Amino acid sequence: MKHFLFLLILIVTSECYAQQTDIVDFKRIDATLKFETDTKKVIGELDVEFHVKKASDSIYLDAVAMEITNVASSGFKMQSSEDKIWILGKFKAGKMYQARFSYIASPQQTLYFTGDQIWTQGQGKYTSHWLPSIDDMNDKIEFDLQIIANSQATVIANGALKEVNNIDVSNRGWQFDMTQPMSSYLVAVALGDFRKKEINSQSGIPISLYYKSEDSLKVEPTYRYTREIFDFLEAEIGIPYPWQNYKQIPVRDFLYAGMENTTATIFSEAFVVDSIGFNDRNYINVNAHELAHHWFGNLVTETSGEHHWLQEGFATYYAHLVEKELFGSDYYYWQLYQTAEQLRELSEAGKGESLLNAKASSLTFYEKGAWALHVLRELIGDEAFKKAIENYLRNNKFGNVTTSDFLREVRAVSTVDIDRWEEDWLKQTAFNSSQAFNSLSKSDFMNRYFQVSSLRATPVLQKIGELRDAILGGNDFIGQEAVYQLSGEDRFVTHALYEEALESKNLYIRQAVAVSMDGVSERLKPKFEKLLQDSSYVTIEAALYSLWSSFPEERSRYLDVTRSVEGFQDKNVRQLWLALAIITDGYRTEEKTTFVNELRGYTGNTYSFELRQLAFRYINELRLYNDEVLDNLIDASVHHNWRFRNASRTLFSEIIKNPGTKEEIIKKMDSFSEKEQQFLQTQFKE
Ligand SMILES: [Zn+2]
Repeated sequence: MKHFLFLLILIVTSECYAQQTDIVDFKRIDATLKFETDTKKVIGELDVEFHVKKASDSIYLDAVAMEITNVASSGFKMQSSEDKIWILGKFKAGKMYQARFSYIASPQQTLYFTGDQIWTQGQGKYTSHWLPSIDDMNDKIEFDLQIIANSQATVIANGALKEVNNIDVSNRGWQFDMTQPMSSYLVAVALGDFRKKEINSQSGIPISLYYKSEDSLKVEPTYRYTREIFDFLEAEIGIPYPWQNYKQIPVRDFLYAGMENTTATIFSEAFVVDSIGFNDRNYINVNAHELAHHWFGNLVTETSGEHHWLQEGFATYYAHLVEKELFGSDYYYWQLYQTAEQLRELSEAGKGESLLNAKASSLTFYEKGAWALHVLRELIGDEAFKKAIENYLRNNKFGNVTTSDFLREVRAVSTVDIDRWEEDWLKQTAFNSSQAFNSLSKSDFMNRYFQVSSLRATPVLQKIGELRDAILGGNDFIGQEAVYQLSGEDRFVTHALYEEALESKNLYIRQAVAVSMDGVSERLKPKFEKLLQDSSYVTIEAALYSLWSSFPEERSRYLDVTRSVEGFQDKNVRQLWLALAIITDGYRTEEKTTFVNELRGYTGNTYSFELRQLAFRYINELRLYNDEVLDNLIDASVHHNWRFRNASRTLFSEIIKNPGTKEEIIKKMDSFSEKEQQFLQTQFKE
């Protein structure tokens, strides 16, 4: 799974049901499932095969709040409890058994209905909310799903699509087949109005790139370099991609950046970009990270949370290597440097964590894990590193692993002593900044960057020459650093440098001016105005706001120039534009109501939570609340995405302080859903 970095939350499950895995090994789960959009229920038929290792009279499947509607197999009884389905009979050691039954589930999590899409998120959430299965990662099962869906929908699940057949006039059945076992948190289904583009890896693996029909022009920028990433990882890791095919599906209101469900990565629709958005916010890192998990996590899986870095640290490290291949080593070192700074800060605040701490933060598992591998590779050399990785994967394929399994392979191929490394990077809680910065200083680029960043406290007049060189040098990161140092300094002194930066051929240096310069001077105005047409939505948004604030008499002109720009998936430019157009006196007065309605409309649940959250922010700033917005805010306050839900709740608790608002809501209480009414009752109690 790939989290957004600023969300350092990860649910690590360390509970284990060791007893059950000693008694039984589930081999195969064959399920036929139908999802009811109206009632949000799952209607399923399950056919499960298991091998009994020790004689027993009861065996269970994890199954949350499920009702058994029919038992088709004879020979044993079945019954459901709060979180399990029990199979009762006289099971003998060494024998294979098969049980068949039907069930109904009403998943409260793990399976989500968002607009016309249905999708799942198993890691940290438990697949047993919608599919009876084994929540323990140590029991690897072959899952073969058949999904019955309305004829317009496209269905994606793990494995190869064998056939699609007509069930009745309005439904089709999609039959998927896996040939290898996996842990249940990797089972996935996505259903919606999707189309796909098909490509093949160099090794011949079919890769499907899914998209919504209205996003056909965004397919190329969104999935840019997918084949290169795939081919690079296969070559770098040295073990062929171990599954039948690979599919990637962007969905609305996803909980994380992406999730590596075996052969079916689901990722946030926020990464669906056009060629301008690609420059600011692209899918490459997440694309590489989730694919890398198909070896590290899916092929070899941690036995427990204590070894979580074997999944996240490795996926993060290999995604860094992909970026190095695509964007060069400056980019690679820059990313490592950024994370080293975050880890150093955490460590210096006394909050450093050992990589082997099952309750560590994402920053530790992901980035300290990647650092550990970077340092290990420098220590033992490329050849030994690659050999160890290959052996580790080959010897543990389709199985479970611990950190010792990995270290054993490293020690087997290298004579270099790694005891100290193990102590410094795996066990110790502090981040080893000195080793990290030693490593970074092997890069000429980092040394040049450190020279420029060390000038931050130097008076501007004494560093003009160096800053100019840095800007003219045209490096993304060094150039940006130089521009940031101009912020707040005497305009008379910085004018010429800002001019150079605005004329730079480097998009990111120009962007640094847009986001860091407070107030645009009359002399820089003509050059600054060009940023309104730059190839970056971050730049356009910042430039529009700066120019609008700095030159009140030109507001209408700036708004006209940017009128048709939408921006990212959350319409960042369009929403700022609407807010400014609404408050600009004399601008398109006859259309004001339309603008207000458009902005209010964006708070509705037909839009993604990212878009809605931004709309609520502008509505709040401009005090444009009405009944429609308030209803949408209540709907948002019970959303499945906790970030959005919490932000909406905070806003709501402010709004109901307004006199009369609470009474208005109470009057129409019946019009809200059950979930919304529950939320409102808790709000009004306080
Ligand atoms: Zn991950």
